Amino acid sequence: MKTCYIIGGGLSGLTAANALKDKFNKTIVIEKHNDIGGLCQTYQIDGINYEFGPHVLYSKTVEQSAFWGRLITPKYIDYHVRCCIDGQLKSYDELFDFPISKRNISRLGESYIPQEPDYSNFENYMISQIGKASYETFVKNYNIKQWGIHPKDMLADWAKFRPLSLKPDNPRMFGDVWAGHPGSYRPVFDKLSQDLEIVTDTKVSGLGIDNNVIKCIYFNNNNNKISISPNDVVINTLPIDLFFEEKLDWRGSLKVFALLDTCPAMPTYSTTFPNNYSWTRIVEYPHHSGQENTNGKTLISFAIPYSINEPLQNDYMQEIHDFVIHQIHAKVIKTVKKHEDFCYPISSQQNIDTLEKILNKASNINNFYSIGRLGLFAYISMTRAIQIALELSNNIDKLSSPADKMTFFKKLREELW
Ligand SMILES: Cc1cc2nc3c(=O)[nH]c(=O)nc-3n(C[C@H](O)[C@H](O)[C@H](O)COP(=O)(O)OP(=O)(O)OC[C@H]3O[C@@H](n4cnc5c(N)ncnc54)[C@H](O)[C@@H]3O)c2cc1C
Repeated sequence: MKTCYIIGGGLSGLTAANALKDKFNKTIVIEKHNDIGGLCQTYQIDGINYEFGPHVLYSKTVEQSAFWGRLITPKYIDYHVRCCIDGQLKSYDELFDFPISKRNISRLGESYIPQEPDYSNFENYMISQIGKASYETFVKNYNIKQWGIHPKDMLADWAKFRPLSLKPDNPRMFGDVWAGHPGSYRPVFDKLSQDLEIVTDTKVSGLGIDNNVIKCIYFNNNNNKISISPNDVVINTLPIDLFFEEKLDWRGSLKVFALLDTCPAMPTYSTTFPNNYSWTRIVEYPHHSGQENTNGKTLISFAIPYSINEPLQNDYMQEIHDFVIHQIHAKVIKTVKKHEDFCYPISSQQNIDTLEKILNKASNINNFYSIGRLGLFAYISMTRAIQIALELSNNIDKLSSPADKMTFFKKLREELW
C-alpha cells in the first residue's frame, strides 16, 4: 500500500494530487484552513468577488489555454495599471503609465534610450533600462516599501520575469500575453478536488526524518503526528524552510479590503503608489474580475507589505479612511483584514545561497519532493504552478538519485511566469 501525502491544498497541491491519484493506492491532501484553494481562491464581500491578491489568468501557449479551458471559461480583460507619484488621486490620463513608458519619461522633462541590461543588481538593472530619473520616481521607493530592502541589495534576475523594461505609451500590463479572469476561481478547485481525500483544519508543523527518510508528519504544533512508511511519498507545497534549520527571508502582505458606497472608485483595476502611504497599490475588484452588477458598491484592497519581525505601524487604518474620504470622495461601508506572512520570496544573494543549501538537503531525503511558490521559494504564476505540479507528477518515478532531484528542483525555478 503506497500513499502520497500532499501538504497544502492550494493550486500546486491540488493539481499534483489530481495528477497522481491513479499512481498511488491513496492520495491525501493536508490543508491548514477549512477551505481549499490557497492564495488564488475566490471569496466574496457583499456579493463582490475577490482573491487575496488580485489573480489575473495568463496563458502564453495553446496548451496552457486548453488546460484552463477544461476547468473554467475566463473572460479576456484589457488590463492597464496607473502609477500615482504624489499621493493625489487623479484621472486615468493624469496618472502615469505602469509599466513605465516613454511618455512617463518625457512627462518628467527627461529623455532616455535604454542601455544594455546591467545585471549587477536590481537598481543598476532598472537604471540601465529606464534611466535614473524614472527609477527614482517610479521604482526605488516602491521597491523599498514592497521588499523592505534597498534595490541595490536585490538580485537583477528577478526583473527578467517582470514587465520592467521601457514600454510603448499606455502599455497593457501583460503585454501581448492573453490575460483575463474567470469571475471566480472556485470552480477550478471544485473540479481539481473531485475524488480526492482532503484533510482540512490540519496545520502541518514539521517532518520526522530519520536516515534520510520521512517517518512521520507532525501537525498542530507537533502535538500530533501521522506515521508514514518508507514507501510513502510526501509532496510539500509549504515554505520549504519550515522543515530545515536554515531560514529564508519572506515578505508578508496585509490586505485591507474596503467596501465602498460608490462604483467605480479608482481609474483602473490597479493603481500603484511608489512614494506615499503605507500601501504599495490599490486594487479595485469589479474592474479586475469584470464583475458588472455590484449594486452601486465597490470593493478595493490596500496592499501593505511587512516582515514577520517588523510589526506594522498602527496608523494605516486612519490613513485608509482619510484616503477614501479625501481622495476617492466615498464612504467606507466596512473593512476586512487578511494577511499572509509568507507572501513574497525576497530575491537576495543571501536567500539564494541559503536556498541552495536547503534544496541540497531536501534532495537527499528519499521520499520528499517540494513544489509551488512556497515549496520552491519562487514567485510563480498560477499557470507555472500548474506546469510544475504536472512536471513533478510525470517524472516522480524517474527522480531516484539526490543529484537528479537537485537538478530537477533547480530547473523548475528557472522559469517563473
Ligand atoms: C499577492 C500575489 C498576487 C498574485 N497574483 C497573481 C496573478 O495575478 N496571476 C497569477 O498567475 N499568479 C499570481 N500570483 C501567484 C499565485 O498566487 C501562485 O502561483 C499560486 O498561489 C500557487 O499556488 P500554491 O499552491 O503553490 O500556493 P498557495 O496558493 O499559497 O497554497 C499553499 C496552501 O498551503 C496551505 N498551507 C500553508 N501552510 C500550511 C500548513 N502549515 N499546513 C497545512 N497547509 C498549509 C495554505 O493554506 C494553502 O492552501 C500571485 C501571488 C501573490 C503572492
